[in-house]
Amino acid sequence: MLHGSQRAVGIIALVFFWSGAASAPAASIASSTHFTVLAPNQRLADTVVQRAETLHLRIGAAWLGRTLPATRTTLPRATTTIYLEIDEERSFARTLVDAPEGGHLVWLVGSQEAITGHLLEHELAHVVLASRFGDSMPIWANEGIASRYDNQRRKIIRQQKLAGFVTMDSWPHLDRLLVGEIRQQWQYAAAVSLTDYLVERGGRTKFIQFVADSTDNIDTALAAHYGIRSLSQLQHQWQQAVREQVSGQQRPTVIATAREAAAPRYVR
Ligand SMILES: [Zn+2]
Repeated sequence: MLHGSQRAVGIIALVFFWSGAASAPAASIASSTHFTVLAPNQRLADTVVQRAETLHLRIGAAWLGRTLPATRTTLPRATTTIYLEIDEERSFARTLVDAPEGGHLVWLVGSQEAITGHLLEHELAHVVLASRFGDSMPIWANEGIASRYDNQRRKIIRQQKLAGFVTMDSWPHLDRLLVGEIRQQWQYAAAVSLTDYLVERGGRTKFIQFVADSTDNIDTALAAHYGIRSLSQLQHQWQQAVREQVSGQQRPTVIATAREAAAPRYVR
């Protein structure tokens, strides 16, 4: 078992193998109960390891009602590793669940503000959810929760996508969204909006239970937790909720103008 700097070297090798980068920068290390942080300088490592512990506690309490270990391994002293890289030009974040080293691996690249702020919060939500679901959580719900911690710029982009669904009367098919990858902004917009809709309807605890049950049979889980008969009924109700939300944010003349220019319909 690797400890201290030996373990750090192993993690760095893993990260750079993963990213395809040619060489590793010198790293400072900070450790806590649940996390090991590798950063370009000690101050940043210390800041992020404290912030990670705080977020782990807060997000766990908000969604799971408790704090679970930040790893699922039984290896002693295993932690989730957070690798930080400051880059004003790029913004990149990934969480590798159950990394070969024993814990999860979070990789953050961006401005100092981003990697200590919204990027860290988004990925920490994935770490918390992995402690409950491992890698089996449906991606739409995983991103639907984590994206709630995004910055305002991303939230505005998603709101614009929702407005586009309404004005074009063109909607993502939930039967595909709920089983596929979430990569495009419109997919994030739909996943977050659907998460918000169900959380507002029944609260966070019910949502987590629904997500856990939905992997067996989505229609049965919808009926049991929300009294919704089927996925097609959920599609209808969600679209109506988005229409009302968007119309509440737009002036009537803007909506009328946009509907005149509506494109062909796909799903209603
Ligand atoms: Zn994510």
